[in-house]
Amino acid sequence: MEMKMKDLLQATSFRFNKALGQNFISDTNLLKGIVADSGVTEDDVVVEIGTGAGTLTKQIASVAKKVYSFEVDKNLEPVHALSLQGVDNVEVIFRDVLKMKDNELQDIIGTGDFKVVANLPYYITTPLIMRFLESELPVTSLTIMVQEEVGLRLVAKPNTADYSAVTLAVLLRGGATITRKVGRNMFYPAPNVDSAVVRIDIDRTKLEGENKNLIHKIVRSAFAMRRKTLVNNLNATFGISKQEATERLNKAGLDEKVRGEALSLEDYVRLSHEF
Ligand code: SAM
Repeated sequence: MEMKMKDLLQATSFRFNKALGQNFISDTNLLKGIVADSGVTEDDVVVEIGTGAGTLTKQIASVAKKVYSFEVDKNLEPVHALSLQGVDNVEVIFRDVLKMKDNELQDIIGTGDFKVVANLPYYITTPLIMRFLESELPVTSLTIMVQEEVGLRLVAKPNTADYSAVTLAVLLRGGATITRKVGRNMFYPAPNVDSAVVRIDIDRTKLEGENKNLIHKIVRSAFAMRRKTLVNNLNATFGISKQEATERLNKAGLDEKVRGEALSLEDYVRLSHEF
């Protein structure tokens, strides 16, 4: 008979490491829901970040071709020996993906397309999204559990408090949707925030020919000091005079009093042509 997660952790005397953001999921319906949201099928290679007790890993493995699951806490090894017993399409790698180069990752997972599915520690959410978005890796989507407020930021519209540099970083390369909200009590131990599952679909052909690094630099500049006008932020980042910044904004059809949070992706693309 299959062991319950709590019994499994007890049987292996596993001790939670709070600093690693260890909040595990055991609810089968939720685990299946996350996998369904990801759209993973038997043709897919999946990279999971944060194996934990292996509950999500096992659920992904039941539909995917192959799962490469990355974890940093070696103390989970005995837990995996039980939870992933007999699951033959999973490889657990005890390494930090954030510290690996693309080619090091591809030495393990191969060079084909892959999807990311993860319930990861919240402090690495943005670095992880950026690590995959900005790479040349053939990743087609990221389905990740995030803090609810981060989820709202990822799908925010211009002129709202949630609209941020990360919203546009995603829009530059694809699009994000919140697929479900998840209450804090679905985790063990329960964190002190609610969560949401976000799916980011990546389209490498989006804005082809545009200088995405430059656009991203302008975006980061625009949100560096949120309450300042774009002219002031551009002046600080690019070392151009306020008059010069005003002229470039006007050429792009934008008012000099505008703040970064009012600009759409298209506005940023147009503005980048003036740099
Ligand atoms: N996926 C499991 C689940 O849904 O129950 C575990 C989720 S738990 C929120 C996050 C896991 O990520 C923990 O097991 C933690 O040890 C691991 N972790 C923390 N930092 C990591 C990193 N940089 N790379 C990979 N895993 C990491």
